[in-house]
Amino acid sequence: GCGDPKDKDKADRATNELVMDQRTRMILLKMISRGIVSEVHGAISTGKEANVYGAVLDPLDGTRPIHRAIKIYKTAILVFKDRERYITGEHRFKRGANKKNNREMVKQWAEKEFRNLKRLHAAGIPCPEPLELKSHVLVMEFLGNKRGYAFPRLRDATLSDEGTENPWRPVYIQLLGIMRRLFRVCNLVHADLSEYNILYDKNKLYIIDVSQSVEHEHPRALEFLRMDIKNVSDFFRRQGVDTLQERAIFDFVTAIKGPVEEPELSEAIERLYEARPSIEDAATEEVNAEVFRNQFIPRTLDEVYDMERDAKMPFEQLVYNSMLADRVAMKLEPEEGSEDDSEDGRTVDGDGVSDSSSEVD
Ligand code: ADP
Ligand code: MG
Repeated sequence: GCGDPKDKDKADRATNELVMDQRTRMILLKMISRGIVSEVHGAISTGKEANVYGAVLDPLDGTRPIHRAIKIYKTAILVFKDRERYITGEHRFKRGANKKNNREMVKQWAEKEFRNLKRLHAAGIPCPEPLELKSHVLVMEFLGNKRGYAFPRLRDATLSDEGTENPWRPVYIQLLGIMRRLFRVCNLVHADLSEYNILYDKNKLYIIDVSQSVEHEHPRALEFLRMDIKNVSDFFRRQGVDTLQERAIFDFVTAIKGPVEEPELSEAIERLYEARPSIEDAATEEVNAEVFRNQFIPRTLDEVYDMERDAKMPFEQLVYNSMLADRVAMKLEPEEGSEDDSEDGRTVDGDGVSDSSSEVD
């Protein structure tokens, strides 16, 4: 119980080495007294928006200590200003972020990560199981070995090179399947997916850092998806993987029909490889890919939204506008197969857009 002075001693020792504000300290002390963790260790990671700490729970029955991870969101104002756009327009946060109350906003981010992790976990997508949330402090399953070493980020992973095949290829295929599951089963787009937010262990990928993930019906969800696909493609291309076209991945991830479970997911991806355009068609495909790429795709979250710049941009270069235009066009001309190549050569975004916007549960 909290009244025991010995407990308080232990709790104090557990937290007093960490530089944190009184409020955060109190939350951790309460978690310690409630037996969620026994000790909070040093930082695994210190980021702009949050720090992640290692922690252990010593079970009362004397069994092995259980490692946990604690993500503590920072209450700094500047960093979170930008992120408000993710909340705006999302039905789970219809009221929008409370600008006046920064602490409230940070709480919302922690809550968002907690809920999104729950969704991933429920869908069987490997991720840290979310365990406890109090204000801006999130306790989750520790992804690492028994000695308390966290799994490496995909960026830092070393893959054993046994056969003749590039060892990164099956990992790439696995990730494409996860992206589709995330979209079709969880109704989410990660929106910050890269080799930095994926942990790797024994040929298995674990998705982390989902506080900015958005509903697939979020007004900018498909734009974020393109960004995720680009990051993933760039990384695996650097590992020498023969990657699929980004457009093909986009269609695969968003398609309503098709498998959402392994091994069918991987099989479907292999079929995409087989269905790749022949050399004669490759030139046309390359033009299409270029058009797809040139539709405004933000590269970083900071680039995502800029009122002044967006206002100066030609209407059709803005993906969200062009998708809107497509949708309007499709409503006006419901004819099948009317691939309307407008004067600028931009092709209609077809099924991906209409599918994902029409299926809402
Ligand atoms: P940030 O918002 O700072 O990017 P992340 O959620 O990406 O926060 O976590 C930062 C780092 O902390 C990760 O790259 C990873 O190394 C480590 N980490 C995060 N969650 C866990 C976890 N559950 N288990 C082990 N390590 C983790
Ligand atoms: Mg991260």
